[in-house]
Amino acid sequence: MKKIILLFSVFFAIISCKQEAADVIVINSNTYTVNDSFDKVEAFAIKDGKFIGTGTNQEILKKYSALKTVDAKNKTIVPGLIDAHCHFYRMGLQQQKVSLEGTKSYDEVLRKIVAFQKEKKAPFITGRGWDQNDWALKEFPTKEKLDALFPTIPVAVGRVDGHALLVNQAAIDLSGITKNTQVSGGEIILKDGEMTGVLIDAAMDFIKFPSTSKKEAIQGLLDAQKISFSYGLTTVDDAGLGRQTIELIDSLQQTNDLKMRIYAMVSGDSQENLDYYIQKGIIKTALLNVRSFKVYGDGALGSRGAAMRTSYSDRTNHFGALIYPAKRYQEIAKQIAASDYQMNTHAIGDSANTWMLKTYKEVLANNKNRRWRIEHAQIVSPEDFTNFDNILPSVQPTHATSDMYWAEDRIGEKRMKGAYAFKELLNQYGKIALGTDFPVEQVNPFLTFYAATVRKDIRNFPEGGFQMENVLTREETLKGMTIWAAYANFEEQEKGSIEVGKFADFVILNQNIMEVEGAKIPKTTVIGTFINGEKVY
Ligand SMILES: [Zn+2]
Repeated sequence: MKKIILLFSVFFAIISCKQEAADVIVINSNTYTVNDSFDKVEAFAIKDGKFIGTGTNQEILKKYSALKTVDAKNKTIVPGLIDAHCHFYRMGLQQQKVSLEGTKSYDEVLRKIVAFQKEKKAPFITGRGWDQNDWALKEFPTKEKLDALFPTIPVAVGRVDGHALLVNQAAIDLSGITKNTQVSGGEIILKDGEMTGVLIDAAMDFIKFPSTSKKEAIQGLLDAQKISFSYGLTTVDDAGLGRQTIELIDSLQQTNDLKMRIYAMVSGDSQENLDYYIQKGIIKTALLNVRSFKVYGDGALGSRGAAMRTSYSDRTNHFGALIYPAKRYQEIAKQIAASDYQMNTHAIGDSANTWMLKTYKEVLANNKNRRWRIEHAQIVSPEDFTNFDNILPSVQPTHATSDMYWAEDRIGEKRMKGAYAFKELLNQYGKIALGTDFPVEQVNPFLTFYAATVRKDIRNFPEGGFQMENVLTREETLKGMTIWAAYANFEEQEKGSIEVGKFADFVILNQNIMEVEGAKIPKTTVIGTFINGEKVY
């Protein structure tokens, strides 16, 4: 008996000295590592939150022993997805408001508000999205039922277009308005001489909306995290945050409530933020990266706020405009260039792109490794494309398929050739970072994948795809959502691919997004999302 025990101990000693200890081994997978040669592997091993080995099932099982082995059942695995431009915090705050889009009656609006309040217990209920034109009775609602349901909690919910607000008596009491209040540029709607609770335009300004409480901010971040994990996102680039929010994120990450990795672009629209963060220097933890400023160059194309070099095609003598005087961008760029920070500027119109490219180039000389970014790079003049040789384009493919219905009306056929020109931008810089701009677009990154590679929307429009000369390959698209997005954040050494030494962030998908028929890409769903090897969804 003693002999047998001895033999066994020797046997285990041999095994344990031959095998390295891992925390988790994943086998039987179809893993796209997104390494330099875009290799696929069957298996990988994780220890202390990082990848320690990749290879065939045999290689990994031979080399490592782990307490936990995950059988991926031949499912496709990709590196944790990165959204290179989104509004994570704003999306979370939206979850704290009641959404009334698509409601078919006033009763349905009331039901939704009651259900929302049951879950959220808000001290002041806000939200928007109702549209009386969608109801059987196409008239503005009146507040009696709302008062009965919420006698003490103020309620103020906006119409879908944001030009009308339905409020209850509790909200009116806080505002101080009466049926006799005079409003210029707006209206207090009365019925039989009494207030109905509907306020139009300037009358809405009387309502005293509460500022975001800390509790709401925290809940917003946690809700945004939950939604993002369900789509396989493991890093989000939040395009414009204030100091208070960044510090809140940092504290929630330190207590492990927030596990999402966040590249927080500091809102550079305030001089106070610029001075504070430049003086403080880069902030970098495993979960937080503060090393860039987000600046607004111009407005949006839909509302004709994007700055164009020549007039809009559908409004004569209208050019949109830069947000600040042109010189201000030079001042900001100079200040940032003297620090280690990146400058990430929102530029939609061709004029905004021209000006920002010129401004960047003046202060950076030809230093490509500063990785300064143009966010959106939506409409670019033909002669400006080569200026992206050392300026990083950060684009949102779903903007192309959302805007394609009306973009040509705004800018005409000729300028459309340089619009949503993702392939051309990629060719110039050699990399492109992909995002969504959620909540402007949907969070779902597989819609980005679809818009980039098929250039259609989910209605399968247009037949043959939109401006197909700018289609990206699936490999380019996956890189844009992983390793190139990581590069855009100065994070390519620690994430963006499944390689030894990097954070064990990865996603198990329901189908092989690299090979499935194009039309089926939007049906991609996430089976599991992992951060540091830990399952978070
Ligand atoms: Zn944005």
